[in-house]
Amino acid sequence: MRPLFIGSEIYRNSTYGSKHPLAIPRVSTVIDLCRAQGWLPPEAYRVSPRAKPNALRLFHTPDYIAALQKAEKTQSVSDETRKKYGLGTLSNPVFAEMFRRPATAAGGSLLAAELLREGGIVYNPAGGTHHGLPDRANGFCYLNDPVLAILTFLNAGLERIVYVDIDAHHCDGVEAAFCGSSKVRMISVHEARRWPFTGALEDTAGGAAFNLPVARGLNDSEFYAILDQVILPATATFRPQAIILQCGADAVAEDPLSRLSLSNNAHWRAVAHLRDMAPRFLVLGGGGYNPWSVARLWTGVWAVLNGFEIPQELNADAQSVLGALTWNRAAGKQPPGHWFKTLRDNPNTGEIRPDLLADMRRLASRIS
Ligand SMILES: [Zn+2]
Repeated sequence: MRPLFIGSEIYRNSTYGSKHPLAIPRVSTVIDLCRAQGWLPPEAYRVSPRAKPNALRLFHTPDYIAALQKAEKTQSVSDETRKKYGLGTLSNPVFAEMFRRPATAAGGSLLAAELLREGGIVYNPAGGTHHGLPDRANGFCYLNDPVLAILTFLNAGLERIVYVDIDAHHCDGVEAAFCGSSKVRMISVHEARRWPFTGALEDTAGGAAFNLPVARGLNDSEFYAILDQVILPATATFRPQAIILQCGADAVAEDPLSRLSLSNNAHWRAVAHLRDMAPRFLVLGGGGYNPWSVARLWTGVWAVLNGFEIPQELNADAQSVLGALTWNRAAGKQPPGHWFKTLRDNPNTGEIRPDLLADMRRLASRIS
């Protein structure tokens, strides 16, 4: 069965507001690049449905969903709503599509879990909103689509699900949802001492989680060691019926919101290895705040899922998609040439630091 890509045009023209890190286009650029390269024929594409409030109640509280819908409708929130639900804040602002857009991303992950009932590979790059809480917006996330997908798998009778999260930030919302679960194993690599400040090495979520906080400057060699010694063995020993990968694009060197230094080769290697370790594979997006880095990384994910060779140089149509991007930050004023011409970053290999090796050994000793 060929991999399926779930997308929507709602991501093209909606924005969190001009000053928000998510003011940049992301999923729309990935769709355009994949189409320009001839990688996204109509039969591989599914339009993401918008999840109905009733479906969101699988995880979210009715009063929170109602508050989110009301905020979209009135384009305002009361002080009480802001305090109680985290809506209308700097990180989770009021904007025109503030319910419809996250409900579409959530609808995509719910659809993905349905499509994967008998097996397969599905990619929903708009998903991966791993900070969402049952009754509260959190960390740019209004809803939590990974949790909704996992709950859908569980309701379908699956009993062993591995959730891998390589976003630069810890997946606090997902971890809270499956703390103590014997059916869900969560593996997260994230930058230490960064918001939301959860996911310590010692935090096992009642045995359900493997958390690896990593120091600034994490390089590709270090990531490959983590992949080989923690992520892949912790996945394999759980014998997963489904794997969900949150493939946030904010752990790359050029991202403005983290201080990790991976190249996109690291993410692609994780995708390539995890792809064949379970009969069901759902890949989600997540963070990522440099429009060129996100587009190139996530387009490459789709190529890896399909076994398409990543070309040395993109074709002219794809290069013009990347050439049309603008970014309201210093690095966006004079973007380097490879941001337009290629998908693949130069590898960033380096020393594997002793502290990381020690932390990895501690986690590896728990794998069974
Ligand atoms: Zn992140």
